Amino acid sequence: MKAVVFKAPDEPLEIAMVADPLPEEGELLLRVRASGICGSDLHMAQVRDRAGGMMPLPEGTILGHEFAGDIAAMGAGVEGWREGERICALPYLSCGRCEMCLSGHGHRCAEVVSTGLGKLAGAYAEYVRVGADQAMRLPESVDYRAGALVEPLAVGLHAVEAAGLQPGDAVLVVGAGPIGAAVTMWARFLGARQVCVSDLSPARAAAAAGFGATRCIDASSENVVAACKEAAGSRPQVIFDCVGVPGSQQLCMDYAPLYGRIVVAGVCMQPDTTIPAKAITKELALRYVYCYRRQDFEFTLDMLAAGRIDPAAMASHFVDFEGFPAAFEDLKKPGDQCKVLLEP
Ligand SMILES: [Zn+2]
Ligand SMILES: [Zn+2]
Repeated sequence: MKAVVFKAPDEPLEIAMVADPLPEEGELLLRVRASGICGSDLHMAQVRDRAGGMMPLPEGTILGHEFAGDIAAMGAGVEGWREGERICALPYLSCGRCEMCLSGHGHRCAEVVSTGLGKLAGAYAEYVRVGADQAMRLPESVDYRAGALVEPLAVGLHAVEAAGLQPGDAVLVVGAGPIGAAVTMWARFLGARQVCVSDLSPARAAAAAGFGATRCIDASSENVVAACKEAAGSRPQVIFDCVGVPGSQQLCMDYAPLYGRIVVAGVCMQPDTTIPAKAITKELALRYVYCYRRQDFEFTLDMLAAGRIDPAAMASHFVDFEGFPAAFEDLKKPGDQCKVLLEP
């Protein structure tokens, strides 16, 4: 099959022909129809040494953990599925029996194998193996593009759940990339009155209106706190760091009011310095989040099916295999893209 493979840190991905994957026992083979580029893929493709606890990717890795498609083949022992069914899937294989799996935290399973991080090839390819237990049917009204957005939408939902929003809260989302967009959507959905969104790219900031932002702030030219106060009448009670670069947490602490809450969803891979006194004197609550629960995936699919959320604007660019390596490189530089999808 055709795939896009990782060669070495900071080198462009390459299109290659690789052996067709075969579904093993309890697995489905998914024919990829849409596959998103995640910020974490960009990070992983740039890891050079083990600093920070991250392992450099092996050469030949096929990345990609945000995908949807249809069932092309089934492994032994699979029941309840048939070829051609449209699905998306949690991007990992796990035991399905332990406490973590049973509570929806399969990514914390001791036996977990993550999709697209080396051992189990990801969805920058024509086909990808998924667990039958991890697969979920796409409701009729949910197309492949939306199906590929379920994973980043679930990340956003999990972050907003962690914030403990009170109806009427004012929220600031720092960073209008895909996770910022998903957080904006769910914050509105779950009761925030004002959702201000700031981004250093004026175009990305403006695009946040499409996700329900009540005030789009161009952080390159506007004073973020002043803009929030103007829109919401106060500093935002809840701030989401959806950037994850050195300095972004400190920025959130600076923006926060007394007793404010900060949820860090952006994944910073470098040493970062903050001044704790700022957070201490304001008595800020700082919360980190990672991934999602299975229930977040399911709820996202339900709300897509019901037409309660519309993430179409999140997917900003579409490429085929030929255009994919260049699109991946472009995302390493600041730009106006939101989610870029491979459509094989
Ligand atoms: Zn992702
Ligand atoms: Zn398990």
